[in-house]
Amino acid sequence: MVLFGPPGAGKGTQAQLLAEQLKVSHISSGDLFRQHLQQGTPLGLRASEFMNRGVLVPDEVTIDIVLDKVLSLNAEDGFILDGFPRNRNQAEVLEDALMRRARGLDKVVYIQVPEPELVKRLAGRYSCRQCQAPHSIPKESLGPEGSAPDLTCQRCGGELYQRPDDRPKAVQKRIQVYQDETLPVLSYYQDRGILAEVSGVDKIECVNHRVLEALRASEPAGC
Ligand code: ADP
Ligand code: ZN
Repeated sequence: MVLFGPPGAGKGTQAQLLAEQLKVSHISSGDLFRQHLQQGTPLGLRASEFMNRGVLVPDEVTIDIVLDKVLSLNAEDGFILDGFPRNRNQAEVLEDALMRRARGLDKVVYIQVPEPELVKRLAGRYSCRQCQAPHSIPKESLGPEGSAPDLTCQRCGGELYQRPDDRPKAVQKRIQVYQDETLPVLSYYQDRGILAEVSGVDKIECVNHRVLEALRASEPAGC
């Protein structure tokens, strides 16, 4: 499946939860780039120039790194893609690659969140250097220098930091790029009849139930 939505919609949070619940792999293009950057690879350094500006990393870099990961799984194993595809070409290449293994996407779940809420969320988002888990730290709990009392990952104990592309200037650009380049991918999946839409404005557990419901893997949760 693909988790689709604007930056800050909660794709990463939901994908980590679903991967544990459904026992499938979570493949996040952004996480793959950040892992490369942490290891100081040329690919990571190149990608970070684009990421920090809030624009898409070029397809010739992105497609290989994501498809390598997808194709390293057994054909019958499930996966959740988070952050990919982000334009029409990526969607087409993914479809071709899956078709060659006689597979296809079961579902594309679009997590909808209005723009003002996205901006607020990204400004308060801190990510784990180790496991990449996103955390929300409200402005009120930050000190004058932007230092928070507790910057420890609740998932793995790693250190939390603010991603350079979560600063306001890059956030505006990312939202614009999303609207211009990524949103058109929705109609691609609508045409294939595999698109489901859920609201991402609610507690994490409620959004999780909605996504599971959309996948028909759980009973409606009533929230
Ligand atoms: P978010 O979902 O919050 O925007 P990601 O970690 O998915 O964060 O992406 C961060 C950045 O990584 C993007 O702004 C972009 O520069 C780059 N990136 C991630 N996925 C892709 C992709 N499929 N194609 C091109 N660039 C990508
Ligand atoms: Zn962590």
